[in-house]
Amino acid sequence: ADGEAITAEMVPELANQSFPLCMRNMQDTLKGSKHLKHEGRQQYSLFLKGIGLSVEEAIAFWRKSFSSITDDKFNKEYRYNIRHNYGLEGSRKNYTPKSCTAIITGPMPGPGQAHGCPFRHHSEQALTSLLHSTLGGTLANSDLKEILAATKSGHYHVACTRVFELQHAKLPGGASVPKGEGLGGGDSVDHPNRYFDASRKVIRE
Ligand code: SF4
Repeated sequence: ADGEAITAEMVPELANQSFPLCMRNMQDTLKGSKHLKHEGRQQYSLFLKGIGLSVEEAIAFWRKSFSSITDDKFNKEYRYNIRHNYGLEGSRKNYTPKSCTAIITGPMPGPGQAHGCPFRHHSEQALTSLLHSTLGGTLANSDLKEILAATKSGHYHVACTRVFELQHAKLPGGASVPKGEGLGGGDSVDHPNRYFDASRKVIRE
């Protein structure tokens, strides 16, 4: 979306560097189970389209990720949907990536599903472990408490913005994360793709 040419192979590394928790969770699940259920595929595929993955790269990405199924099954069951998300099949609608509000108020993830917003939909325990794997050593106990408190009072965007700040604090351009700049909605995260764009901006500085 911002000029960087994104290929299928770059996605795991970009997920580590620049994806918000909701999309990292999806990438982790995809890596672990070599599959994502329908809602998750929709949420993740439109996000990836938003970061600049072309339809060819998207097909390559999903084909590689669903490594335990045959080409035949992949082509029959998944290729159409990916192309559909790019407006190349069916009603040819140009689908846009979901905003935080759409994700937070959307369908609750059931067992085995990875879509949604971890701040809204994860248990405290699952959220804590996702925070640890995302932030590693940069997550102090006081930060964790602050993030969990914001989450408990329903201020998911505040919690997500705090994660953004911590994730980028150690980068040269991240000493003062551009508050309000690129993140949208004033000072806080309101769209996973804005999170990504703001992150790339900090990383390039
Ligand atoms: Fe994703 Fe938005 Fe939730 Fe952050 S607040 S994890 S960007 S849905």
